[in-house]
Amino acid sequence: MTVRTRFAPSPTGQVHIGNLRAAIYNWLYARHAGGQCLLRIEDTDRERSTPAAVQAVLEALAWLGLTADEPPLYQSARTAAHLAAAEDLLRRGRAYKADKGGTGQGECVLFRMPGTDMHFHDEIKGDLAKPAADLQDFVIVRSNGTPVFHLANVVDDIAMRVTHVIRGDDHVENTFRHVALFQALGAPAPKYAHLPMIVNAQGKPYSKRDGAAYVGDFRAKGYLPAALLNYLALLGWSPGDDRELLSRDELVRLFTLERVQSSPAQMDPVKLQWMNGEYMRALPRAEREAACRAVLEARGLWNDALPADYLGRVLEVLQERVKLFTDIAAAGYFFTEDYPYDEAAVQKRLRKPGAREALAAARSVYAALTDFSAAATEKALRDLAAARGASFGDWVHPVRVAVSGTAIGPSLFHLLEVLGQARTVQRMAKTLEKFGG
Ligand code: GLU
Repeated sequence: MTVRTRFAPSPTGQVHIGNLRAAIYNWLYARHAGGQCLLRIEDTDRERSTPAAVQAVLEALAWLGLTADEPPLYQSARTAAHLAAAEDLLRRGRAYKADKGGTGQGECVLFRMPGTDMHFHDEIKGDLAKPAADLQDFVIVRSNGTPVFHLANVVDDIAMRVTHVIRGDDHVENTFRHVALFQALGAPAPKYAHLPMIVNAQGKPYSKRDGAAYVGDFRAKGYLPAALLNYLALLGWSPGDDRELLSRDELVRLFTLERVQSSPAQMDPVKLQWMNGEYMRALPRAEREAACRAVLEARGLWNDALPADYLGRVLEVLQERVKLFTDIAAAGYFFTEDYPYDEAAVQKRLRKPGAREALAAARSVYAALTDFSAAATEKALRDLAAARGASFGDWVHPVRVAVSGTAIGPSLFHLLEVLGQARTVQRMAKTLEKFGG
């Protein structure tokens, strides 16, 4: 039997990472098994399923390279098939009409549960059961004639010949109903795998209040799709050893449902950032620089007058400080003389007694240097501090704030080397003028 999985999102807004992870697992599982991965857009909620929301799903999948093996099936186009199934169930006494709640709004169609205890095997959670008393008949067609999620979901899974349903564990309760529907419709139920929730550091469902939660957020922040794919694949699954950087091909080769954990998976944005940094550094240099340049251009920081190898040298100095392309913007001072001064840094480092005197002395020494390598500027500053009997730090910090406007950054002397002597000295002079009084 060929494995057929499907990702069946309800496009109601942006794509949450929990949904994206479900898409990834469906895709990996199908690829691993040499089967097919399908896409079904569950767009029956006419108010919330806007074209923009559908577009967001398609774009998210395309961005991560999660291609489906057949054209997407739009559930809204399948109403006739859903209603035909309801008719069939009515004819065979497996469903009945009733004015539910006696609202006088007309009759809806209810599915008749078998009246027995229900159980199913979940590939991740094991055997799950529910007593008959907890399984009430339920509406499958509303009084206005529209099919309900449970019916549409099952009828379409049958039509698409889905063999494995991999989805969020918020659907576990629904599955007892779905299994009963499969049975009543004379179709074998698929295998089920319900994925544990993604939670925040407090163990609560991870939401946008905890940070970036939608695929579009990560994209806008400059994450690489390959890094997000790798990270989300590991959010609830592991290859069985402690490897963390896994290519798409390795993920496909290693992915099994047995290794999906049943406990909630904790989202760790710091780890994702680290992973993105690893992927970024593995990119060909030209690609990395082009992406950083695009960020700088978008923020008006790109300067054509700088040497061709300048951005490359900046990135070398910044090293793992750039975990996202957008991180380059925090080092905007490399690219413009018009960099902002961080008020707190100015207070702490430049307004301190002796700081401006130190800066002025350092400026004179730097202006006279004939070698402006990192080693030379460091030695010069050390000698200066030692000669004045001052601590090195008292000299380093004012220089850093003067040339970059901020108290944080990469190795100062490498920064100076990249800036070059003229710009360094000019920046120190400008800063003294600005905060001299
Ligand atoms: N549209 C449902 C959801 O997004 C789908 C569930 C399923 O995969 O069966 O939660």
